[in-house]
Amino acid sequence: MRRVACALVHHPVLDRSGSVVTSAITNIDLHDIARSAHTFGLSDFFVVHPVEAQRTLAQRIRTHWVEGSGGKRIPDRMPALGAMRVVPSLAAAIAELTGEGEPVEVWTTAARPAGPALLSFPEGRERIQGDGPPVLVCFGTGWGLAPEVHVQAARHLEPIRSPRADGYNHLSVRAAAAILFDRLLGVD
Ligand code: SAM
Repeated sequence: MRRVACALVHHPVLDRSGSVVTSAITNIDLHDIARSAHTFGLSDFFVVHPVEAQRTLAQRIRTHWVEGSGGKRIPDRMPALGAMRVVPSLAAAIAELTGEGEPVEVWTTAARPAGPALLSFPEGRERIQGDGPPVLVCFGTGWGLAPEVHVQAARHLEPIRSPRADGYNHLSVRAAAAILFDRLLGVD
């Protein structure tokens, strides 16, 4: 079975007009994605932010739950937040995952098909069960990952679809991560 990690990307992401921007850290994203990632056995949860003050904020949240009073009060959160790693770029996350130069397979996610190398959930599940380099599943913030992230990815996971007639499927990143982890790694 392959090692699987995830990244929550705050840059480069899109804003509502389609411009490439940097989004702000949302406390609850870190908590909820860390807990989902830990539940489904992911090895690491990378929080990607290019702004040092925002990385310091994320690191303080981690310290509170891993070493500080939060962890003493609610020990269940300690291992989940302990697997959270705060990095300045996606390249840094890739380098930290295996060490410089080792291959990593980047998979991106989006509410709309994000590229030609579309991967269904059953195919993704099967690939994870086989041999190969670690997989890094990337999630967007703001209005989603910028095209440059999708372009460098090996595969694009199929969107989580909606039964609605209008197809509305714009999930929060926290909900999307939990559903995707269950489809790729969950136990029946
Ligand atoms: N601030 C927003 C929030 O409410 O969390 C961020 C929205 S951001 C566009 C949501 C991210 O979750 C996307 O970049 C993608 O990674 C993932 N996502 C959302 N809906 C999805 C879907 N239907 N299928 C797959 N991934 C989805």
